[in-house]
Amino acid sequence: MDWRTRLLSPTPKARRDYNSLATPVFRGSTVVFESAAAVNDHWNQSENGYSYGLYGTPTTLELAARMAELEQAHFSFVVPGGQAAIALVYFAYCTAGSHALVPHSAYGPNKEMAEGLMAGLGVEVEPYDPMIGAGIGELIRDNTTLIWTESPGSVTMEVQDIPAIVAAAHARGVAVALDNTYAAGVLFDAFAHGVDVSMQALTKYVGGHSDILLGTVSVRNEAGFEKLGPVYRQLGLAVSPDDCSLALRGLQTLALRLDYLERATLSVAQWLEGCPHVQTVLHPALPSCPGHANWQRDFTGSASVFSFTFKGNLTAKQVETFLDSLAIFRIGLSWGGVTSLAVVYPDLDRPGQNFGGRLVRLNIGMEATDDLIADLRRSMELAF
Ligand SMILES: *Cc1c(COP(=O)(O)O)cnc(C)c1O
Repeated sequence: MDWRTRLLSPTPKARRDYNSLATPVFRGSTVVFESAAAVNDHWNQSENGYSYGLYGTPTTLELAARMAELEQAHFSFVVPGGQAAIALVYFAYCTAGSHALVPHSAYGPNKEMAEGLMAGLGVEVEPYDPMIGAGIGELIRDNTTLIWTESPGSVTMEVQDIPAIVAAAHARGVAVALDNTYAAGVLFDAFAHGVDVSMQALTKYVGGHSDILLGTVSVRNEAGFEKLGPVYRQLGLAVSPDDCSLALRGLQTLALRLDYLERATLSVAQWLEGCPHVQTVLHPALPSCPGHANWQRDFTGSASVFSFTFKGNLTAKQVETFLDSLAIFRIGLSWGGVTSLAVVYPDLDRPGQNFGGRLVRLNIGMEATDDLIADLRRSMELAF
């Protein structure tokens, strides 16, 4: 054969039995089959063998299997981010004419998708009070196909009564989805509490270092698997094996990071509780957080993100100056990494509540906790 042809030979020359401790990164769109008869195009490659990179590589499916094992799920789909996970759930459970329910406290882009794409496709998504509990039953209609939960809620941190919502939903045959990002899929056992489909942004704690975007959608049973699989295929939610490899690495230190972050975060939250400028600390493990009793009953720990409000005598402008005075905390939106972050949400949409630009959300990182507290104290002295 010509050297040009030989250059393109896909047959490996080196031994393939390198038994690495780390999961290898398998790149590739195309797999080759043993024979014409062996060709298949199934998305369910775990069962049918590898067919095409879009449905997962060994790296991707290793991450999927480990996430399913961690969450005690029937199966986990790995998708490009938390928001893609939210989209997959909407598209799998809602069609034109469906009614769905989403808490006011849900992640902003979830509500944006409800009012945007979903509304445009004829799906009515109705917001509800996150503290509604069993009262959700009164909002369920004959065409309700999906109830979203997120606990604690984004920014305002309401811990929902998931078992009560699940009981009311299942009595009417409605599926319950949970955004379980806060709990990293482990501090709250979604399936033991009856949830049907649990998604999370691996971007946050599993990645853990602010350098990847990934998400998972985990299902409790075969019915959920069959419902989501074809939609996953149609949406083409392929992920990078390099990102999956970083998520697999992140899993190795997840327990250690969560454990440390829980303690560090509680120290900062408790310091804020005693601070004269602070009105309320919204941390699930503190009694001042809405739904604290639900957290005590249902969670095995707390994480690194929480919010607090400044007293009403301070202006939004002063709060902004406080943020700008911080030296160790960086101003940023995401969380779950090793760096401490602070952010103000000036236009939070929470019916009956007006935070007036005085609600600050913190993500506690791995800097020395005393330095973080000193940074907060110093910035308050400078700004107020
Ligand atoms: C960050 C986040 C998401 C979205 O995750 P991305 O990976 O950024 O798309 C979804 N839900 C919650 C609660 C989040 O905090």
